Amino acid sequence: MLSIVIPAYNERENIGFLYREILDELSGGSLDFEIIFVDDGSRDDTFSEIQQLAKGDARVSGLKLSRNFGHQVALLAGLNEARGDKILTMDADGQHPPSLILPLVEKLDEGYDIVNTVREATMDAGFIKKRTSGMFYRMFNALSEVRIQESSSDFRIMNREALVAFLSIDEHNRFTRGLVGWMGFRQTSVSFVAPGRNSGKSKYTGRRMLRFAFDGLTAFSSKPLRISTYLGLTILAIGIAYGIYAVIVYFAGKSNPGWTSLMISILVLGGTQLLILGIIGEYIARIFIESKRRPHYFIERRAGAAPGAKDPRKVE
Ligand code: UDP
Ligand code: MG
Repeated sequence: MLSIVIPAYNERENIGFLYREILDELSGGSLDFEIIFVDDGSRDDTFSEIQQLAKGDARVSGLKLSRNFGHQVALLAGLNEARGDKILTMDADGQHPPSLILPLVEKLDEGYDIVNTVREATMDAGFIKKRTSGMFYRMFNALSEVRIQESSSDFRIMNREALVAFLSIDEHNRFTRGLVGWMGFRQTSVSFVAPGRNSGKSKYTGRRMLRFAFDGLTAFSSKPLRISTYLGLTILAIGIAYGIYAVIVYFAGKSNPGWTSLMISILVLGGTQLLILGIIGEYIARIFIESKRRPHYFIERRAGAAPGAKDPRKVE
C-alpha cells in the first residue's frame, strides 16, 4: 500500500482539488493507497474539508494538530500515522504535481529506498526567494558534511525501512531534507517543474525561511561556531597589533585625539562580539529545546480511520 502524507496549513481551497487530482491519477490503477491529511492548526476550514473527504472515502484520514507546529513537524505527524509500505509526502497546494506520484513509485520499485525530488523551476517563486534559496543550499553544502541538492523539496517517497529509520530520529527543529540526506540508504532523485500554487499564498514568509535556514545549518554543522572562534582570534590579533602600535605612538609623543580609530575599533569589536554571541546563542537555544524533551506535537482531533501505529512520543 502507498501512504500519501499531506501537511496543510490554511489550504481550504486546495484540499478537495488535490484529492480529486490524486484520485484521477491513482483510481484506474491497481495500487492500493491511503491519503493522510495533517491540518497543521489551520485557522480556516481546512479540517472540515478533510472531514468531508474522510466521510466519503475510507482511504482518506486526517489529523488536526493542536496548533500550528510548522511544516516539518506536520510532516512528522503524518509519517507517524502512515501504514503503507511505500510512503510519499507532498504539499497540499498543488505545487507537487500528483502526475508525478506513479513515476515516483516506479522509481522506488527499481530498487531504491528513498526517491527525492528536485525542482527544476518553481513557476511562482520570485527573484528574492530563488536567490536566497540558492544561497542557502550553497552555504549548507559548504558548512555541513551532509550534501543536499539545490532546490530539494519535501516531495519524496520512501519505503518502510527508510521510514522506520527516519522516525527513529527524535530531534526537534527538524530539517527533513538534511535528515534524509544524512540517513544514507539507496537514494536517488527525480526532477520536476513546480507549478504555481493552486490557491492562496506561500506560508513560508521571509521570517519562516530564515528560521528554516538556521534550523538546517545549526542541526548539521558546528562550523559556524568554529568560524566565530577564528573570527574572534583574527580580530584579537589585529587588536593586539594595533595596541602595540598605539603604545609606540604614545611613547613617540605623537599621540593624537584618535577619535576615528577609537570609534572604528569599538564598532568592529562590538559588532563581532554580538555576532559571535548570537551564533553561540542559536546553538544553546537548540540544546535548551532538546533538553526539555517535549513531545513534537499534539493531536487535537482525527478524521476517518487510520488508527496509526502507537507511538510513545505521541500524547493524545
Ligand atoms: N505548511 C504546513 N505548516 C506550516 C506551513 C506550511 O503544514 O506552518 C504546509 C503548506 O500547507 C503546504 C506545504 O507545507 O502544503 C508547503 O508550504 P508552502 O506552499 O506555503 O511553501 P512553499 O511552497 O512556498 O515553499
Ligand atoms: Mg507551496
